[in-house]
Amino acid sequence: MIVLKLSAGADPGQVMAQLQGMGLWTQALQGGVAPAIAILPPSPDVAPERLMRLSGVAEVMSSVSPHALVDRQSSKAGAADFYLIAGPCAVESAEQIDAAAEMVARAGARYLRAGVYKPRTSPYSFNGAGQVACRWLADAAKAWGLGVVTEVYSEETAEAIADVAQVLQIGTRNMANFALLERVGRCEKPVLLKRGMAATVDEWLLAGEHLLKAGAKEVIFCERGVRGFDPQTRNLLDLGAVALLAHHYGQAVIVDPSHAVGRKDLIVPLCLAARAAGAAGVMVEAHPSPAQARSDGAQALDADQLGALSDALASAQSPAWPSKTRAAQG
Ligand code: PEP
Ligand code: MN
Repeated sequence: MIVLKLSAGADPGQVMAQLQGMGLWTQALQGGVAPAIAILPPSPDVAPERLMRLSGVAEVMSSVSPHALVDRQSSKAGAADFYLIAGPCAVESAEQIDAAAEMVARAGARYLRAGVYKPRTSPYSFNGAGQVACRWLADAAKAWGLGVVTEVYSEETAEAIADVAQVLQIGTRNMANFALLERVGRCEKPVLLKRGMAATVDEWLLAGEHLLKAGAKEVIFCERGVRGFDPQTRNLLDLGAVALLAHHYGQAVIVDPSHAVGRKDLIVPLCLAARAAGAAGVMVEAHPSPAQARSDGAQALDADQLGALSDALASAQSPAWPSKTRAAQG
């Protein structure tokens, strides 16, 4: 907010025009002692000192961000490689996860995803093989030279999961489980934070702040679709939020099209769209034998389809323009 001088002859319209000339979106504020102007999103970053130098400006006040730790990590989001994270919905057996790891490694991905404990909407659905699957998952990842991304769904299991995973996942159903966020943060590892299925971007960013405050090494945001209204595309993949987090907030965002759209035939185009929107990578479900999968088989890619996705991503371009944060850093 810019507060203007009260002196006779000060012209708010002229200050406003100068601000607009700098590419800022402005709104005149009424009712204060002195005339004032608010600078609104999606304005680019401008140093307050530069605004102070404009004639007629008395004071520049910046609002304090409610997620300072998230903001601070924005500088870390660089133009690194585009990540492909893949694997089955769940670890089902030692043989299944080994075959999955093989296809993921052969497709050129660096991370294997698979659930050990699965929070399921129905209590009668397969909810993961549990603790024994941690060892199967770790062995398969090691054998094929992959990192592990897996979900922590309860405070009690956090430590055991942290022992085998390089990246801890928080699922959509737990994004606002603050005790769990605190416990997972204390593991001091990178966390893949899925967006709650009806969470606003602000709620998502603040969930990230909970994790970082508790000690998480890094928070990677994961868009997996929000509640829409059309069952044909199940959860609505919010690429607007992906672009916002990547380009406005400078965050690393991973897109999970599998849980969004729920069908394998749309995974390649959505992954390409995610990349174009500014995502740092994608996480997709893949299974050595999708027809036999104990959960989410309809959205799981087989080995050939995963290879085709990897090829499609390799020949795609990342967006040519930098994020706001990266641009500000020059
Ligand atoms: C998952 O990735 O395994 C999963 C359960 O996803 P979500 O939390 O997005 O439903
Ligand atoms: Mn799944």
